[in-house]
Amino acid sequence: MTSRFAADHPELDVAIAAALRWIDGLAERPIPATATVEQARAALPAALPASGLRPEQVITDLVAAAEPGLMAIGSPRFYGWVMGGSLPAALAADWLVSAWDQNGGMRLATPGVAAVEEAAGEWLLDVLGLPAGSGVGFATGATAANFSCLAAARGQVLRRTGWDVERDGLTGAPRVRVLAGAERHSSVDLALRYLGLGAPELVAADDQGRLDAGALRVALGAYDGPTIVALQAGNVHSGSFDPFEPVVEAARAADAWVHVDGAFGLWALASPRLAPLVAGLAEADSWASDAHKTLNVPYDGGVAIVADRDAAVRALGARAAYLLQGATPDPFDFVPEMSRRARGVPVWAALASLGRSGVIALVDGLVDAAQAIAAGLRGLPDVEVVNDVVYTQVCASFGSDERTDEVLARLLVEGEVRPSGSVWAGRHVIRFSVSNHRTDAAQVRRTVDAVERALRG
Ligand SMILES: *Cc1c(COP(=O)(O)O)cnc(C)c1O
Repeated sequence: MTSRFAADHPELDVAIAAALRWIDGLAERPIPATATVEQARAALPAALPASGLRPEQVITDLVAAAEPGLMAIGSPRFYGWVMGGSLPAALAADWLVSAWDQNGGMRLATPGVAAVEEAAGEWLLDVLGLPAGSGVGFATGATAANFSCLAAARGQVLRRTGWDVERDGLTGAPRVRVLAGAERHSSVDLALRYLGLGAPELVAADDQGRLDAGALRVALGAYDGPTIVALQAGNVHSGSFDPFEPVVEAARAADAWVHVDGAFGLWALASPRLAPLVAGLAEADSWASDAHKTLNVPYDGGVAIVADRDAAVRALGARAAYLLQGATPDPFDFVPEMSRRARGVPVWAALASLGRSGVIALVDGLVDAAQAIAAGLRGLPDVEVVNDVVYTQVCASFGSDERTDEVLARLLVEGEVRPSGSVWAGRHVIRFSVSNHRTDAAQVRRTVDAVERALRG
C-alpha cells in the first residue's frame, strides 16, 4: 500500500484504506451484515492482550473482525428504520472533529469549533424558517434533542405557575400534563421519563397517525395547569405530519408549550413544495431533529431548537468556577452533555456543501424517490401501499401478514435492498424509509425490481 501519511502514522493509512474500500463498495455490496455478533466476537482476541499491539495492527485486526458484521446503511437501497447516508463533506468534517479532538463545550476554550457550530445553528434556523435567535444545541440524536427541548418546556410551564423546577425539583410541584398523539415516537416517552414527567396522555390519531386536533382541544379544556403538547413532524410509518396550525392555536389559547419531534420530518420546512404539510410548524416553541437522518450527516448528530433561548439555558446550562465562561451561553448550555464532541461541525459542512438549493433538492429528492417506489409497488400484483405517501416513508402490505413476512424475508436474504418490517394499523407491513441522498431513479428501479423478484419467489 502506498502511504498517504507521514511514516509515523501507518494506522491512519490502514484506517483510510479500509474506509475507502467500505465507502466505495457501498452501492454494490450486499446490504445486510454477513456475520453475527457472536461471529464478530470470535474474530476478536478473547482476552485483553498482556501487552499492547502496534496501532496499525490494532486497526487491521479491528477491520477484519468488524467489517463482516457491518450493515451497508449508506447503500442507496437501504430503507430500514429511518437512517440516512453520509454526504461527502459531512463525513470528511466528522473525521476532522476526531483529529482535532476539541472539547466543544466552551466558546472561550475552543473558539474555532464554537464558531462553526454557531454558524451551523444560524444556517439551520434560516433554511428551516425557524425564529432567528432560537437556542440551538447539537445533541447525540433526536432522543437527546427531545429531552433537551422538553427540559426547557418543563421549566417554563412550571415557572408560569410560580414554581422553579431548576431550584426546587419536581417534588411538590404542580402536576405537568403532557399531551401527545397516539402515534408519537417512543423517544418522546423516553425523554419524558428522564424528566420525571411519566408517560404522556395520549390523544387520538387518524388513519395516517396524525393527532386529532378536535380531540386535543377537548383534552386541553380538561385541565388548566401547566401543560406541554408534544407533536410530531414525520410519522415513522406514514411520514405524516400533525395538523400544526389548529393545534398550535389551541395550545396557545391554553398557555401550553408546544414541542415538535421532527427527527426526520422537520426538514420538510426547507422545501417550498412541502409547505402545506408544515403550515404552523414554525410557530411551535421547540423542535427536535436529527442531522444523521434526512440531512445525511454521519452518526451521530441531533439538533435541539428552543425559541426561548433563556428557557433552554435555565434548564440545561451549567456554571462552575474552574470552567472558562463568558456572558454568552456556551454550546454545553443547550444539551445534556458538558464535555462534548463538536457535532455541529459536520452539520455545517453538510449545509455548506448543499447550499440552500441543495437542501431543498435533498428533501424533495427523498420524497420523489419515496413516491416513485410507492408507484412502482402499486404496479405489482397484490401489493397495497397502505399510507398516503406525502413524505419519505412507504408502508406496503402484500395480501396477508404471512405473505408480507415472506416477501420481507426473501428481500433480506437476497440483500439487494434493505427495508424493515413493522406492524402498523393492525397489519404487518414492509417499510421503505427513503433517507439517503443517493437514492435516485435508477436505484428506485432496482428496488422495485427486487420486490418483484421476491414476489415471484
Ligand atoms: C429516529 C427518531 C427518533 C429518535 O431519534 P434518535 O436519533 O434515534 O435518538 C425520534 N423521533 C422520530 C420520529 C424518529 O424517527
